[in-house]
Amino acid sequence: MKELIFATNNPDKLREIQDLLGDNFKLYSLKDLDFLEDIPETGDTLEINASRKANFIYRIFNRDVFADDTGLEIDALKGKPGVHSARYAGPEKNSVANIMRVINELKYARNRTARFRTIITLIINDKEYSFEGIVEGAILKSLRGQEGFGYDPLFQPSGYTQTFAEMELKQKNLISHRAIAFKKLVVFLKKGVY
Ligand code: IMP
Repeated sequence: MKELIFATNNPDKLREIQDLLGDNFKLYSLKDLDFLEDIPETGDTLEINASRKANFIYRIFNRDVFADDTGLEIDALKGKPGVHSARYAGPEKNSVANIMRVINELKYARNRTARFRTIITLIINDKEYSFEGIVEGAILKSLRGQEGFGYDPLFQPSGYTQTFAEMELKQKNLISHRAIAFKKLVVFLKKGVY
């Protein structure tokens, strides 16, 4: 069985990916390794942050590892909040405040297009690979739905009439940016050519 570290402390993400990978891979979260420090996320792009997180953990444990980073890129805001999505309204990572800031900044915007983008960096056998998942959509003028987290009540993926927050988690997980990126990672790992 192949062992991999997933540089996350989010148990939901860990379970989701373990489920996709099946029994041939055993994932360890940072908590499983008793690593409770915050990993610095100070890069200017999702690519830099995902790579830094993976490299940071790789240097400490010297074991195969992957890390992810996600951002909401709004065209009328020139790609913001992007890499700053979690802390857009301040260091408290407050989702309601983040959403209110976006609603205010888009008050007069006619172009409402946006996308969620996830980058995963994998370091395996001392080589680095990256995988991208994108979901295009639009930012609504007000919130709809109670499910999910973060910007979900504001984001309606293209081709759907519901926001992410109006979808059941299962449905969101079938089409989300994270799912797309992780499925690419899973296909790569299952091929075994690395
Ligand atoms: P992370 O890189 O997965 O920690 O995501 C960074 C930030 O992007 C989160 O704190 C959320 O604000 C936002 N975000 C990431 N994924 C989603 C999602 O699926 N729905 C809504 N917001 C998200």
